[in-house]
Amino acid sequence: MTLPTLRDAVAGGIRGPVRLREELRASGVSPRVEPSSARSDLVVSGLRVRYGEQVALHGVDVEVPAGSCVAVLGANGAGKTSLLAAISGLHRPVEGEIRFGSVRIDRRPAHRIGELGICHVPEGRGVFPNLSVAENLRLTLEGDEEKVEAALERFGRLRERLRQRAGTMSGGEQQMLAVAPAVVGGYRLLLVDELSLGLAPVVVDELFSVLADLRAAGTAMVIVEQFADRALELADHAYVLRKGTVAYRGAAAELQGNPDLLHRMYLGGS
Ligand code: ATP
Repeated sequence: MTLPTLRDAVAGGIRGPVRLREELRASGVSPRVEPSSARSDLVVSGLRVRYGEQVALHGVDVEVPAGSCVAVLGANGAGKTSLLAAISGLHRPVEGEIRFGSVRIDRRPAHRIGELGICHVPEGRGVFPNLSVAENLRLTLEGDEEKVEAALERFGRLRERLRQRAGTMSGGEQQMLAVAPAVVGGYRLLLVDELSLGLAPVVVDELFSVLADLRAAGTAMVIVEQFADRALELADHAYVLRKGTVAYRGAAAELQGNPDLLHRMYLGGS
């Protein structure tokens, strides 16, 4: 499916940080994420998602315990992106419930879900190609120079390219620029869709090591990933979706050590 790009988000207010900041200012609510592990549990129950006649998820249950990492695997079209889009409010489910801590979020608009500390890093690279690296960072980090500096600390390669137009950078560099706001934003839950798509292994290593650091610092995450091994290495729990249903749910380590099981879960059969 086609999800809104960062540009759409900022222009259209889907979960644009700039617009969110404005709305929060107007409402007097602080955009800072309060540290609280009690509210970090994500519970998805009986989630049904459709696009017109096309049903993408048929009553799916998923849980993300506080501070844990959940890998969501499955073949093309299994419903992985639809699950993330429903959680972040980009596509409203037709049935079921999603709770983040004590808050029911499945009827909230996306920007009000982001406000709770959930950040969705969608598939594809959401950068402004005609702006420089510095301009991209200032825009997505709302001019917060401390966060810009933190992003440059984390991704040294971006510092070397501050004046370069984002659209002329390599795919890996663009992906670093795209994930930087999620990394330094202080979120409680990250939803990461196909981070490694089309990237060289060395860049994928670097991005996964950033996720590992965030996870070690207590950020919960749901990772949709084509390279099952990468995701399972990082994850505590794993789900395999098949044709919009949960075919497997269990410890990531169990799937990691059992490629035959993983294969069966992807393809069907017992
Ligand atoms: P992939 O790994 O190929 O990205 P996925 O597991 O993320 O696949 P989804 O993108 O969630 O799967 O798609 C699940 C189902 O919903 C598919 O059958 C897909 O064709 C359908 N679908 C997704 N987005 C739309 C849309 N905007 N309109 C119609 N059908 C859609």
